[in-house]
Amino acid sequence: MQTYTIQTYGCQMNYSDTERMQAYLDALGFKKVDGFDKADIIMFNTCSIRQKAEDRVFGELQKMPQLRRKNPNLMVIVAGCMVRKSSSRYSTERDPLFGRMSDLDIALRTEELPRLASLAREIKPDLSIPEIKEEDFEDYFHVKATHDSHKSRAQAFVPISNGCDKFCTYCIVPYSRGREKSRALDDILLEANELVENGCKEIILIGQTVNSYGLSHYDKEHKTFDSCEQGEQPFPYLLKELDKLHEKGLQRVRFTSPHPKDMTDRLIDAMANLRTQMPYLHLPVQSGDDRTLKRMNRPYNIEKYRETVKRLRARIPDISISTDVIVGFCGESDDEFENTYEFFREMAFEHAYLAQYSERAGTTAARFIKDDIPSEVKNKRWHRLNNLLRKLSTDALKRFRGRTVNVLVEEQKNKTCLGRSEHFKTVQFKSGRKLLGKIVPVKITDSREWMLMGELE
Ligand code: SF4
Repeated sequence: MQTYTIQTYGCQMNYSDTERMQAYLDALGFKKVDGFDKADIIMFNTCSIRQKAEDRVFGELQKMPQLRRKNPNLMVIVAGCMVRKSSSRYSTERDPLFGRMSDLDIALRTEELPRLASLAREIKPDLSIPEIKEEDFEDYFHVKATHDSHKSRAQAFVPISNGCDKFCTYCIVPYSRGREKSRALDDILLEANELVENGCKEIILIGQTVNSYGLSHYDKEHKTFDSCEQGEQPFPYLLKELDKLHEKGLQRVRFTSPHPKDMTDRLIDAMANLRTQMPYLHLPVQSGDDRTLKRMNRPYNIEKYRETVKRLRARIPDISISTDVIVGFCGESDDEFENTYEFFREMAFEHAYLAQYSERAGTTAARFIKDDIPSEVKNKRWHRLNNLLRKLSTDALKRFRGRTVNVLVEEQKNKTCLGRSEHFKTVQFKSGRKLLGKIVPVKITDSREWMLMGELE
């Protein structure tokens, strides 16, 4: 029996994609193994948001010649964001990666996963692949995931859209994943229902701009949302439909990452009113300066973002908000960075992913805007903002001392349990009971920079 292993890089979307890739390879009759040396198929599910992630894949590929000497049947596949054209080394039109990776056999675009069997046959015509029902795999979203990115069945990723129409100048996603397409509502609800019947308590909806669900040009053209009731916005409607699964045991629905432009009042209402919605939102701002936002092609200004946060806090007073920021974007003056710093303080972000800008080949910024901020300046700005974040996180966590929070236990080693509260805070506590995948009340006794400590009630 052929064996495979998948190495995943990047965001939660990629981990969710890996679950679908695994399901597909399982259906082809391949067996999952851990480690390169036991595998006949090595697949890299790649991320190209940052140069560093790409460099790591190139680094891993250096190991392939030696592995191939031990296993001449080895097949090497690069999938995901680094790929532009699904192809094999024998295809007439090949992905540009073949020019840079001599050990590559197959390049595969994520949404073209169902083409993997035919590409594998181009490499090994005698490969024995069982007949699989084509209709189960004709569409990437129809591949039934194995849902094992999480340690328990209590949590699952559910992708609801793929691609992006927003074209931020620094980002490769609209080119690597293509234009935004949403998954059919009935299809999502069917998968969610099945997950909940199998014990899932938390569903994480995944999409590049998850709250633009149903609003893309493609969706409008293809009338994907005829099943929505008259006048409903697709994303809040989806949240309402999922909330009905509360009766069957679904406790939490999270979503990542929303775009500030599509944070409508109806969505905020849904977040405030639905039983499965949690008081937490990750809302990427990227910069706190309008000039920088304009160069990034982010379709909002600081006032609009501020006003959205005001509306969120008015409806959900205790909400925790986290964000993403890129420092040192092309042309970012001292003054522009100061505005970002002050805005960050004003918004009191409780968590953030802070990145130093690095040029990505193929993006609009790489072609037309000069990456002119020296790396020492980027570094200095990053550290200043990170110090502010550490302080804000420490202060934010103090408010939970003495409170009881409900924790979904995601890890349990010996007697130490780790999980997330309603506000998406990491909580650590001790228990000798088997609690993995359970939601339990924990009294918070202390807090640190990034974590809450407590006792099981
Ligand atoms: S919204 Fe911008 S940063 Fe996010 S995926 Fe789309 S283009 Fe990239």
